[in-house]
Amino acid sequence: MDLKRHDFQLDDLLEKIQAGNHRLVALQLPEGLKIQALEMIDTLESQSDARVIVAADPCYGACDLVHNKMQMMGVDLVAHMGHSQMNIDSGMETEFINVTYDGEPDLNPVIPFLEEHRTFASQRLAESKGPNEIGEGDAKERFLDAVGRIAPLTDTKLGLVGSIQHLHLLPTYKKKLENEGYDVVIPTGGKRLTFPGQVLGCNYSGDDPSIGHYFFLGSGDFHPHGLVLHTGKPLAMLDPYTGDASEMSLEKIERILRQRFGLIMSSDQASSFGILIGEKPGQMRRGVALRLKKLLEKHGKKGYLLALEHIGPELIDFYPVDAFVNTACPRIAIDDSVRYAKPLLTPFELEVVLGVRNWEEGYQFDEIH
Ligand code: SF4
Repeated sequence: MDLKRHDFQLDDLLEKIQAGNHRLVALQLPEGLKIQALEMIDTLESQSDARVIVAADPCYGACDLVHNKMQMMGVDLVAHMGHSQMNIDSGMETEFINVTYDGEPDLNPVIPFLEEHRTFASQRLAESKGPNEIGEGDAKERFLDAVGRIAPLTDTKLGLVGSIQHLHLLPTYKKKLENEGYDVVIPTGGKRLTFPGQVLGCNYSGDDPSIGHYFFLGSGDFHPHGLVLHTGKPLAMLDPYTGDASEMSLEKIERILRQRFGLIMSSDQASSFGILIGEKPGQMRRGVALRLKKLLEKHGKKGYLLALEHIGPELIDFYPVDAFVNTACPRIAIDDSVRYAKPLLTPFELEVVLGVRNWEEGYQFDEIH
């Protein structure tokens, strides 16, 4: 990552510090930007009267806002960098600082993928418009998406989304793609998302049946995996750091689904479960955890509630339970399960184990709203 091409908007933060006469500021950064932290401290401390503390624990999202411990330390402002505000209140004054990347890759490499995906979406739409009175078997043939759900389309629009440091490019790219003949929408999601076109690893709530395929502007497979697991729709990707275009292959999604099914099968005989509750403000789903405990009891199984700030194998593997279900960040179960000695399930997957939900009806991505 070329950090020199990122705008950290420190001037705005300095203005905020000076206007509020803040004395002790906690700087919270995503892992990839922490390397810049000391340089930022030098800038902020030399141009204001504030002292700055780096919140050095791992931070993967705005779900993970610095909260009461920093308050006890006397911090009077949290500067949270690189993520946008969510529908949570950490109880501390928090300034969200946008980080943007100045790269604007050429769209041409991604066009062949978009062409192919639009054709695919058009076929699905045409099939969706067939006679209404059809049996379940025919419906499956006709509407099945990439994660095995029956999901009819109403249109074939192109959903244009991106990760947060590239969102400023979306309006320009929308126009360019419209000039190429695409019907483009920049989806607006629920309260957990601040900006149109924004996606999080745990929230793709802008999706709707009028979107037939997606274009993601960003790097890595983290968001693309979640987007396809949630929407079941074709996805083209353009990496602003390299200019490379690709698509999320169905093989990769099938591999994830096979792994998830394997974990469900291996939990079939489990009689005791650890139910993980995240202590981070935007991951805390106490209600879901209690519901799962009740559900386990109803099925004659034990559920033990375990609350953690950070979740890792060294913190849970030793508990004498047969499997775990995670109600904190949904991506821990999906992306990290190989690190754990015992099956680590999502709430939906536990419901499949218990026979309350049906795997054959398609995969249900665990979303936090
Ligand atoms: S809950 Fe997980 S995926 Fe969602 S914002 Fe937090 S770290 Fe990212």
